[in-house]
Amino acid sequence: MAKAQVEDAVLRRLGYATQTDLVLHLPLRYEDETRLTPLREARPGRTVTVEGVIVHAELQTRPRRQLVVELAAAEPETAAHPAAQLFFRLLHFNAGQVAQLRPGARLRLHGEVRPGFYGAEMVHPRYRLVKPGTPLPETLTPVYPTVAGLSQTALRKAVSLALAQSDLSETLPPALAQRLALPAFAEAVRLLHAPPPDVDLDALERRTHPAWRRLKFDELLAQQLSLRRHARARATLSAPAMQSGGDLAQRLLSALPFALTRAQERVWQEIRADLARPHPMHRLLQGDVGSGKTLVAALACLPVVASGWQAAVMAPTEILAEQLHLKLREWLEPLGLGVVWLAAALKGKARASALSAINAGQAQIAVGTHALIQEGVDFPRLGLAIVDEQHRFGVEQRLALRAKGRPALTPHLLMMSATPIPRSLAMSYYADLDVSTLDELPPGRRPIATRVIHMTRRPEVIARLRDYCLGGAQAYWVCPLVEESEKLQLKATLAAHAELAAALPELGVGLVHGRMKAEEKAAVMTAFKAGRLHLLVATTVIEVGVDVPNAGLMVIEHAERMGLAQLHQLRGRVGRGTRESTCILLYAEPLSDAARRRLRILREQHDGFAIAREDLLLRGPGEFMGARQSGQPWLRFADPETDLDLLDTARKAADWLLDHHPGAVERHLARWLPKGLDYLRG
Ligand code: ADP
Ligand code: MG
Repeated sequence: MAKAQVEDAVLRRLGYATQTDLVLHLPLRYEDETRLTPLREARPGRTVTVEGVIVHAELQTRPRRQLVVELAAAEPETAAHPAAQLFFRLLHFNAGQVAQLRPGARLRLHGEVRPGFYGAEMVHPRYRLVKPGTPLPETLTPVYPTVAGLSQTALRKAVSLALAQSDLSETLPPALAQRLALPAFAEAVRLLHAPPPDVDLDALERRTHPAWRRLKFDELLAQQLSLRRHARARATLSAPAMQSGGDLAQRLLSALPFALTRAQERVWQEIRADLARPHPMHRLLQGDVGSGKTLVAALACLPVVASGWQAAVMAPTEILAEQLHLKLREWLEPLGLGVVWLAAALKGKARASALSAINAGQAQIAVGTHALIQEGVDFPRLGLAIVDEQHRFGVEQRLALRAKGRPALTPHLLMMSATPIPRSLAMSYYADLDVSTLDELPPGRRPIATRVIHMTRRPEVIARLRDYCLGGAQAYWVCPLVEESEKLQLKATLAAHAELAAALPELGVGLVHGRMKAEEKAAVMTAFKAGRLHLLVATTVIEVGVDVPNAGLMVIEHAERMGLAQLHQLRGRVGRGTRESTCILLYAEPLSDAARRRLRILREQHDGFAIAREDLLLRGPGEFMGARQSGQPWLRFADPETDLDLLDTARKAADWLLDHHPGAVERHLARWLPKGLDYLRG
């Protein structure tokens, strides 16, 4: 095959499009073949390169089929070690190899020496036939991540061809390159693919070598450039500038039985200032479970309706959307504002009238699920889109709500999340967003006492539950997660409900799970909220947003199977009122180290930010971005957490480049985001 064809085949196998992709396909580790070890020093335990001549080769069939080759020093060694020899064995081989490995053939081998049946031996070393005096490589040999059927040899050839042929020129203006005090791009990739033998291998492996840092910087810079560019493009779009809505806000606040927390007040001012500008807001509101995001969302709607525009509020599930709807009605209807409900389950006349109110621009505020972004829904005066629990939607869905407005003016967008984003991630993946943080819970909340209890003590827990509920309070029982099958999950949930209902005849025991119809779910939730049910048996559908202040006890079965963020969210369902709250984490063996650590963190930590950080360490950034972010290019080389200094530099450099070196921006993005990939988040 021609060189180009070989390279094409390699690219295809790895799923790459261009030579640059190969240049950025970096080694996992290296082998040192730059030195020959004399045969007599090839002792068991060492990984070495040796050269020798075959003195004997034998095709054996017992105890198994194998080719055993005996090798002697190619040049006479010292008189003290006249008979240096080494065996090597092949267990898989073909006729060609048998023909090749004949006495007299001269070989160079690389591999680990082990103690063998006949003496020191190598099993399946890498070998090749050589002529006397064949030069040794001058650099370390890279070992690449690869896929089945693609050999290291083919990969090495393709990469070195790519290095020779593609454009490795510097993308950064000299002033910046100099300030970084890191090697140039070309120098860095050449070193990483073929380091000199005296390189600091430890630094290469830990990826702290200046060559590594240069690539990490370039990658972070591409991310920042891409995100900042989106933010700038948005700043050129027009949005309706809203009046302050101060009167309505005053009336809402004075009707509440409590005052805003300082954090709510600050965040509300940030949002109000954004809404007053003639460019679309693009803001993430993050706050731990129970920090009072719903009220902030309600306040955000006020300037919008006061200015004659519509607001749409979307949540990921019917239960959540329904709760939002109830809250917003409770707060906003007394002000004379119209709040319309729209969900898939809404049918017939009710649906038609909701749709016509929205489409005619009469509905001032619409609350609902994905139904809001479906065909046929059309807000003639959409001024603000609010997406609750934003990480449970994909980027496209979040943007789809905003797109429901008329094209001339772009609506403002407020995204809310109870999964706090650690600072490093906020600075990297969310660099195009403005972030507001509710870092304070409403007063009077007490930390939720969290207890980790073995499954064998379940009967005691049930007895405690009875006393607790007979005392007038309410509780949740969360059923185990059955990952393999929804059917099994349902079965386990139904069984738990039946068991608890039988064990607690004096209590009203309700049930909600994911397979129930929306109206059934709503009926159960309403009964629970009204206090007609004492105990609510549930699957993790109650994970987010459910708000029943009288419920102060939660039991979670098989907590060891759940993730940190999920457990923290679940636990946040209690501790909403002023009563003492408890969360009981029931666990069973076997308990993995990670599970043990999760349970310990939950018992000791109550702060969502601290938990999110631990989660980031345990699971990586993907979890924070939402599961359905297809096409999201993750950082491959840099880690925002450990490379915070580079991230900081890249952030500053990005704005400077966008202002002063648009050509460099294009060149840099062409190298790092070649396939039209994008770090866009919405
Ligand atoms: P989340 O941020 O998790 O969505 P919610 O908006 O559901 O939290 O608020 C949790 C509870 O706290 C609700 O019952 C809400 O009415 C109440 N709440 C909100 N703000 C305050 C406040 N400033 N003082 C007291 N209670 C508040
Ligand atoms: Mg909420």
